[in-house]
Amino acid sequence: MAHTVVAEAEALLDKEYPVLDKGFVRLVDYLGSDQRIVQAARVSYGEGTKSYRQDRGLIDYLLRNEHTSPFEQVVLTFHTKMPIFVARQWVRHRTARLNEISGRYSVMKDEFYVPDGPHISFQSEDNKQGRSEEAVDPAVQTEIQESLATQQGAAYAAYMDLVNRGLARELARINLPLAMYTEWYWQIDLHNLFHFLRLRMDAHAQYEIRVYAQTMFEIAKTVAPMACQSFSDHLLGGVRFSAVELEALRSLLGDSARDSQALAQGLERAGLALKDRDRLVTKIVEGRQN
Ligand SMILES: Cc1cc2nc3c(=O)[nH]c(=O)nc-3n(C[C@H](O)[C@H](O)[C@H](O)COP(=O)(O)OP(=O)(O)OC[C@H]3O[C@@H](n4cnc5c(N)ncnc54)[C@H](O)[C@@H]3O)c2cc1C
Repeated sequence: MAHTVVAEAEALLDKEYPVLDKGFVRLVDYLGSDQRIVQAARVSYGEGTKSYRQDRGLIDYLLRNEHTSPFEQVVLTFHTKMPIFVARQWVRHRTARLNEISGRYSVMKDEFYVPDGPHISFQSEDNKQGRSEEAVDPAVQTEIQESLATQQGAAYAAYMDLVNRGLARELARINLPLAMYTEWYWQIDLHNLFHFLRLRMDAHAQYEIRVYAQTMFEIAKTVAPMACQSFSDHLLGGVRFSAVELEALRSLLGDSARDSQALAQGLERAGLALKDRDRLVTKIVEGRQN
């Protein structure tokens, strides 16, 4: 099968999905789909697409067992606009290709992020990298918003003054704040996008990058819905046990942790489907992925 066209993805090409107060995510282009993953995985057998169920099962198997290369056959290009502090976290993901707007070449736009009220919180006392859950008085939130906007306005006025005085743009920009918006084209394959999404959709990631990751995940679902479902089931919604944790789990389960049949019966009573049961029994009894 040559070039793959996914009607649902075509329909949202170039559509801007607003994120934060002034940012967005836009799908510029995509290459491949679930069908490309299936084709790539089956290429050695010379077999093409089979039934929906078989394709779904194959994709699920590949993802569960970390046969990752077929997922690299799907590529997405996004145009995104985000505050510089979000871009700094984002750029740590080295497996993407990107082109960012140049502050040496262009005069930067007067666009800064101001968090909305509910996302203004004080420093968490137990999480050094996060916000407290404690509600902040709306009047205080407004004061903070005004303070941020005033500082941003002053920094931009000083920047424009230097630009207007003829200072090189690459120097005039150096005092601009991290809240300023930047834009880039960002291209990544699906395997590496899943890695990015798993880290950046996690509750430990900063809210402001999480909302971009969530939006990109929604877009990726239109390009490769089966792969995204497997990602959701096994990586996003799944957890890994250490050897010590597995041993503790076995000890809690008692004799059934050594008896595949008894364990399978228990899992059946818990409502687990046959294949899921078999996989969990293998994990618990034999301590290996299936
Ligand atoms: C919640 C959170 C908090 C964080 N806090 C901090 C912080 O306080 N300070 C800080 O500095 N960073 C921080 N980071 C960034 C983090 O350490 C990683 O740099 C970032 O998540 C990118 O992960 P990665 O290297 O796995 O991803 P990618 O760069 O996307 O790489 C994907 C995978 O490819 C492989 N790979 C890519 N490049 C190489 C290479 N050159 N050599 C070998 N293998 C490679 C690795 O297996 C890697 O896991 C934080 C990240 C998160 C999610």
